Amino acid sequence: QLPLAQPNLLWQILKNENAKDAEAREAILADPGFGNHFTDHMVDICWSEKGGWHRPRVQPYGPIQLDPAAAVLHYAQEIFEGLKAYRHADGSIHTFRPYENAARLQRSARRLALPELPVEYFIESLQRLVQADGDWVPSAPETSLYLRPFMFAKEAFLGVRPAKKVAYYLIASPAGAYFHGGIAPVDIWLSTDYTRAAKGGTGAAKTGGNYAASLLPQAEAYEHGCQQVLFLDDEGNLEELGGMNVVLVRKDGSLLTPDSDSILEGITRASILQLAQDRGLAVEQRPISLTEWREGAASGDIVGAFACGTAAVVVPIGSLKSEEFTIEHVGDAATEIALSLREELTGIQYGRLEDRHGWNL
Ligand code: PMP
Repeated sequence: QLPLAQPNLLWQILKNENAKDAEAREAILADPGFGNHFTDHMVDICWSEKGGWHRPRVQPYGPIQLDPAAAVLHYAQEIFEGLKAYRHADGSIHTFRPYENAARLQRSARRLALPELPVEYFIESLQRLVQADGDWVPSAPETSLYLRPFMFAKEAFLGVRPAKKVAYYLIASPAGAYFHGGIAPVDIWLSTDYTRAAKGGTGAAKTGGNYAASLLPQAEAYEHGCQQVLFLDDEGNLEELGGMNVVLVRKDGSLLTPDSDSILEGITRASILQLAQDRGLAVEQRPISLTEWREGAASGDIVGAFACGTAAVVVPIGSLKSEEFTIEHVGDAATEIALSLREELTGIQYGRLEDRHGWNL
């Protein structure tokens, strides 16, 4: 158990007297889907320019009262995170690499001119909510409790400047298995009319605006029969998908993934790359042009690709489509590597394999 960030500030615990009963909860946990249902409690912590972080509390889940002039509604000064709590076979509950999410939330905060939440507060918010709503962590294979920390400008003021009042919240949502009946490769649409982020922009921050901007290109992907969209930078280098990082697989089993300061540094990707290195596979992180992927696929040097992120963990990419060309990856070699790395990572997350890097908390 971690010490309180500021021991003199006691947490308020307000119990939800209208919490769902066991029967209603179990009915939801039997088929939760993703992002549809929320647990009985949430955490909120206030920040003000004068008082710093104060009044941490666990309270009943419910609507937030917001002044119509709250800055977030006008200028989108907002950031968030996403991670999961997993139930192990012995019934214990563990989050995966939460210190990485704490650090990323702080990096996002700096870019969006929001106050940095102390790491201890972040970790304690996760632990307090999981403690209050532990019964909401499902136990079927590949299920989890998705944790969504977020922070926004709540000051009622229409001037354009960093807000002097900010709120941090944490909510939780049970998540079902992402794939039913086997992991199918996804087809990806190449966005040529839109970019997701610019050099010096907010691409590396986890901020709502990036996702708002991805909705139109994502709709275009659906129109072309693809499930996800791939963004390039303005020089034609690979960036990432709307909500996942991308990794290419070479015929010698080595992995290649973009290095860019305008993409989100995925914790899943970092973990997969580590596991690959542990196996003795070479890992290269550097700018990768679309041309390199096309030529590599044509010559047989690049045999496949996969996407990775917290929600789906690892998904093989079957094809990259655009108005002008299609890259097809049909061989099994890359899919085998991707799925075996996925198996190892989920093995650690669910406590089936030894946590040799100390990733579970
Ligand atoms: N890129 C984007 C744009 C994302 O939204 C996500 C999901 N958080 C990722 C990559 C993958 O990050 P992670 O592995 O930490 O979930």
